[in-house]
Amino acid sequence: RYQSLTYSRALEIHKQHLSPMVTAYFQKPLLLYQGHMEWLFDSEGNRYLDFFSGIVTVSVGHCHPKVNMVAQKQLNRLWHTSSVFFHPPMHEYAEKLSALLPEPLKVIFLVNSGSEANDLAMLMARAHSNNTDIISFRGAYHGCSPYILGLTNVGTFKMELPSGMGCQSTMCPDVFHGPWGGSHCRDSPVQTIRKCSCAPDCCQAKEQYIEQFQDTLNTSVAKSIAGFFAEPIQGVNGVVQYPKGFLKEAFKLVRERGGVCIADEVQTGFGRLGSHFWGFQTHDVLPDIVTMAKGIGNGFPMAAVVTTPEIAKSLAKRLLHFNTFGGNPVACAIGSVVLEVIKEENLQENSQEVGTYMLLKLAKLRDEFDIVGDVRGKGLMIGIEMVQDKMSRQPLPREEINQIHEDCKDMGLLVGRGGIFSQTFRLVPPMCVTKPEVDFAVEVFRSALIQHIERKAKQKF
Ligand code: PMP
Repeated sequence: RYQSLTYSRALEIHKQHLSPMVTAYFQKPLLLYQGHMEWLFDSEGNRYLDFFSGIVTVSVGHCHPKVNMVAQKQLNRLWHTSSVFFHPPMHEYAEKLSALLPEPLKVIFLVNSGSEANDLAMLMARAHSNNTDIISFRGAYHGCSPYILGLTNVGTFKMELPSGMGCQSTMCPDVFHGPWGGSHCRDSPVQTIRKCSCAPDCCQAKEQYIEQFQDTLNTSVAKSIAGFFAEPIQGVNGVVQYPKGFLKEAFKLVRERGGVCIADEVQTGFGRLGSHFWGFQTHDVLPDIVTMAKGIGNGFPMAAVVTTPEIAKSLAKRLLHFNTFGGNPVACAIGSVVLEVIKEENLQENSQEVGTYMLLKLAKLRDEFDIVGDVRGKGLMIGIEMVQDKMSRQPLPREEINQIHEDCKDMGLLVGRGGIFSQTFRLVPPMCVTKPEVDFAVEVFRSALIQHIERKAKQKF
């Protein structure tokens, strides 16, 4: 128990002095006190299984002992030196991280957040291509700086002011909601339940989407573009997957028009998808720029942009890019130890094995409950889309989803939310999660669904 701050006092302080936005996530937000690996503890001493990892951020576990030890050592040695100086943690980290990326992605820029990383990637794309327009998918989330907000196409994050000059959105080839929702068109152990009636051949439907994509490219200024941003699997939009092969064709079209391709690995990188270390590898593509954040530091603020020597040179020719905190010794030491832990503890393999186990268990819930419309994802990036019924695929009303969400929390399971209507639960635990913990989580989720159905039945009489 944590005595020095009561729950009611924390609520008062929050209302008076902190951003009003985050409180909307839970009806009764948690006052967290401590974390250990995949578990969180509130100030009352209650424990919660963390299947949201602080929004897909805690990659190797809360307060992982080895990560903490390295961070403490570095804190005692050297906290800060601007990037104008050399220091061993930065150089060691650059070598380790670049070894994990294929040629020619070998030049690293260190920054502090995903938005900053994407801002920088946008600058690089423009500096290298000499073009302006950048394309991203509807439903994409790439950050919320005023610059990058032009590429974030989730309505709740937008204001009615122009943001992000030269940003264009293109339709998101969403396998569940698009006409191509066949049974073999996405890269996941779990396929959509309904065969598509209007496009029996998924590949033919993919072609239609490529045509749409081409159309967007053709409407950009001077028909030449600077770049295309894509998350290998959309996170904030609710674990949305594209048809197999789509990104490969899209990359080709972008390059034909002089643009560069950017993979936003902020959520999908560092082994989370199980089968591969990077999400772009699951699409069999090689981006020109890769951005990463969140899991890179297991929750410590750090981020990176990795690109080719040519693109790095194009940027350097045009401007001096400087970042006070990017590449600071503590962040770099943590980044290195996170990579070591992922390897030593086989966390990518664990994501693959435990993630697939969870997907298959959740697919059974989808078959059991009409309101579970879709179960999707790869490794430990899983989405459960809640619908009114499987035929309509209309989103379950927000109040009902809120209640299921709250019930899971009250039973000791924290899950995330995503999608335009906040209709998709996101299950993205730290990569050290175990099968018995997955059993617990699935059981809690099932109980919350049963509670929900019983509650609704009572309301009818
Ligand atoms: N890209 C993606 C895919 C993200 O999910 C996020 C954060 N949700 C960002 C970029 C922005 O990262 P940050 O919040 O660190 O600026």
